[in-house]
Amino acid sequence: MKPRLVYVNGRFVPYPSASVHVEDRGFQFGDSVYEVWAVMDGGLIDAAAHLRRLERSLGELRMTPPFTPAALDRVLREAVRRNRVREGLVYLQITRGAGPRDPLFPPHDRSATVVVIARGVDRAAVDARAEAGISVSSQPDQRWGRCDIKTTGLLANVLSKQAARAVGAAEAWLVDGEGRVTEGASSTAWILDPAGRLRTRALDAAILPGVTRARVMEIARREGLEVVEAAFTPEEALGAREAFNTSASGFVTPVVRVDGRPLGDGRPGPVALRLRALYLDHVRNTRPQIGVCAQEPGS
Ligand code: PLP
Repeated sequence: MKPRLVYVNGRFVPYPSASVHVEDRGFQFGDSVYEVWAVMDGGLIDAAAHLRRLERSLGELRMTPPFTPAALDRVLREAVRRNRVREGLVYLQITRGAGPRDPLFPPHDRSATVVVIARGVDRAAVDARAEAGISVSSQPDQRWGRCDIKTTGLLANVLSKQAARAVGAAEAWLVDGEGRVTEGASSTAWILDPAGRLRTRALDAAILPGVTRARVMEIARREGLEVVEAAFTPEEALGAREAFNTSASGFVTPVVRVDGRPLGDGRPGPVALRLRALYLDHVRNTRPQIGVCAQEPGS
């Protein structure tokens, strides 16, 4: 769904005319970070955790945060409000600014470019996808060595996702040099192994520390499930009881085929569906308290 107003460098401008400078470093070098929040019932999900990850991404790239977390939180909420988003996503991008093309950091901490786009999503379609389950295709992980930073340098993710699409899969599972899945092109990958333990790769520089991953892990442990942070191969996934992906945009999405072969009976597993339901319950129950700033925008 098309946004109406987009935040660009301090102003809300109409979507069709929103633009940044041609020499923006995000455009020329991918010298930029981003974050994505889910919006449910008009509220931001896990706002504080995403803001913390954003601060970390900025810090790792030695970019000065252009706002305090509370001010940024207000801009995000204002973007949601002005676009009347009830169910959707908020995308934030911060670049190291614009200037004559030079890979070196600018001598002065010139002002960052900040863009916020809030848009509605068809949640019924997202739910239908989860109910049916998705296919994943394993693809070589060709990304750089700092995938723990949420940068817009996503070309390898784009190419992997496109390659997955070409073979009829909705997501790519990226596979490292040892044959183990790092993560999805835009999600965290999980299995329920034959012993009934949930498995997902341990956090390291090869994967993004998913906010949904942390939340689902907490929920699973509370439910008495054993969670093991250990990577798995696509072959192990095919021998698993269940598999699923997590992300802010898809929540918990069951995986029913890997590389064209059905996983189990080829239907979403009960544990994945239960974790999805529990995650959605958690989101609905905690939403009013979520956020780092209780103030209304402009107050
Ligand atoms: N891994 C990658 C590469 C991603 O792009 C994403 C989300 O976009 C995730 C994992 C899931 O992260 P989160 O749960 O914070 O959305």
